[in-house]
Amino acid sequence: MTDALAPLAERVERVRGEVADAARSAGRDPAELTLIAVTKFHPASLVRELHELGIRDFGENRHQEAREKAVELAGLGLAWHFVGQLQSKKARQVREYASVVHSIDREALVSALAEAEHPLDCFLQINLTDDPARGGAQPAEAEALAESIAAAPGLHLLGVMAVAPLDEEPRAAFARLRAISDRVTGVVPEARFISAGMSHDFAEAIAEGATHLRIGTAITGNRPPRD
Ligand SMILES: *Cc1c(COP(=O)(O)O)cnc(C)c1O
Repeated sequence: MTDALAPLAERVERVRGEVADAARSAGRDPAELTLIAVTKFHPASLVRELHELGIRDFGENRHQEAREKAVELAGLGLAWHFVGQLQSKKARQVREYASVVHSIDREALVSALAEAEHPLDCFLQINLTDDPARGGAQPAEAEALAESIAAAPGLHLLGVMAVAPLDEEPRAAFARLRAISDRVTGVVPEARFISAGMSHDFAEAIAEGATHLRIGTAITGNRPPRD
């Protein structure tokens, strides 16, 4: 490791330590958590540095940017997690590089991805806000969408995903997500994973059962401005 990586290595170590502490406080095994470094806006060179520090799971929220990095870094054996809103007409292209799509939130996306030789791991995104323009299905739609994902040969449902609303205490929002997760496992028992927790709320998410943490700035530092 070169000295240039020192601040990045320190941030990675700090986040890993805080994740492990939060898991232990919740009576959970840190080994059951997947840490996804969200590298949107950042260049492929940063992903390479994080790979040197042992990170293998990376999150992106724009298709074109994600594809470019995945192509440039093919061969490193990285798992790409698509966490952004997805247009139906782009959905099939995301399958070419993504290991997991966290943002399945409507029937049109399920249909677009329903047919394929190999199932794509995915999360059903739930909108925990009152704003219907935000990504995610309404909580009331969760079971029906989970069942249609489970019935699609091209998709494999891992569980539910959400972003905590800005105007609510994150722990309360993640408790609602956990209750939705319980309803989803009522209809698709193996879909037990929960993608939740970002830089400022991962401890609360872990306390409410999150298994997949999507952490950006706490690892990468501030994002450069986007074009
Ligand atoms: C950007 C982003 C993250 C990471 O956010 P930070 O606050 O930088 O940790 C997580 N999830 C989604 C869906 C995102 O778009």
